[in-house]
Amino acid sequence: MTVIKPCSTIGILGGGQLGRMISIAGRNMGYRFITLDPTPNSPCGQVADLQITAPYSELKAVRNLADSSDVITYEFENVDSTITSILETTSFVPQGSELLKITQNRILEKSTLKSFHVPVAPFLVIQSENNIETAIDHFGLPYIMKTATGGYDGKGQWVIKSRDDITIAIEAWKKAGMDMIIEQFIPFSKEISVIVARNIHGQTKTFPVAENVHINNILHQSFVPARITDEQRIQAETTALKIADCLQIVGLIAIEMFLTNEGEIIVNELAPRPHNSGHYSMDACITSQFEQHIRAICGLPLGDTTLLSPIIMVNILGQHLSKVLDKIEQLPPTAKLHLYGKKESVENRKMGHINFLGATLEQIDKQIKDLGIWSYGNVD
Ligand code: ATP
Ligand code: MG
Repeated sequence: MTVIKPCSTIGILGGGQLGRMISIAGRNMGYRFITLDPTPNSPCGQVADLQITAPYSELKAVRNLADSSDVITYEFENVDSTITSILETTSFVPQGSELLKITQNRILEKSTLKSFHVPVAPFLVIQSENNIETAIDHFGLPYIMKTATGGYDGKGQWVIKSRDDITIAIEAWKKAGMDMIIEQFIPFSKEISVIVARNIHGQTKTFPVAENVHINNILHQSFVPARITDEQRIQAETTALKIADCLQIVGLIAIEMFLTNEGEIIVNELAPRPHNSGHYSMDACITSQFEQHIRAICGLPLGDTTLLSPIIMVNILGQHLSKVLDKIEQLPPTAKLHLYGKKESVENRKMGHINFLGATLEQIDKQIKDLGIWSYGNVD
């Protein structure tokens, strides 16, 4: 079994914030990093040993990344299969391409989960506009239409709340010319997520369950420990471990789940990489999700994921950055700021996050509200 030891070079496909935080964690351990990203001086490129600046479709650049790396990982799931096959033939890609294929496509993802008897929201694949009209008979209102591929932060989603919305949905489906699914709307009481690591040797470890609050479909806060019962926590962890084992993953997988009003857990989606809802682990766990990812793909024993303190992670979007900088001196001494080095501060772009640690979630929540950086209610 391959163990990639510190001082080796890790290649990262993608130069965003996840690649940046993987590189920072790995550099502490003595690894070297090369990233491939089309944007010069990317968030990851700024901290890596080298950035290859080229489009992902430039095969020469992809080969160059593979040739220069002892192990390859990726920081986003929409990697073209031509690229993964080049990488896999030239280099060591322990995560493989199978998991990417599954998580790139909601139809495949949900069908795979169903085949493992993991509960997911009832769904149907749209084959004709008639499906969009009759979905109301199967699922009632509201229901959700989603593109099968390429969605993030709620993009590529339509919530159908009334019969009038059906016409809009049909138009959107025709215009997009993409595979889409319809999902039953799950009236959840909470959204939670579990990140699992599994290494090449089959060892697995979960991170503490995070309770996630979204605003406008974008993750706003993660509360850890999640305010759920022990039984729900065990069920969430067991479900996550089952998915990691059934898929035989290597690396990290983040599993987003709904906790229904009846206390049931329903899996929403998977991400085969470190996840925004795991950023709290950088300051609150013995091992962060980024270090764990490196340990997993390099075949090292997995680190302890014990939670050291209650924590609330808050995302800094483009519209929040100047307020954060204005109030930098008022941040509590237990707040840890992480910025991603992005040049342009655009509305709703993830620019960074703050991990607020404290004695209790209530106390931390009050501290955050008192700062007045984030406005609450529907508008943010
Ligand atoms: P991400 O940025 O996490 O990749 P995404 O755009 O891929 O998001 P989802 O995670 O499927 O999409 O949905 C975004 C949010 O929309 C969810 O976090 C949840 O709040 C809401 N949502 C999605 N599907 C459902 C559903 N079936 N029932 C209720 N709410 C839903
Ligand atoms: Mg999601």
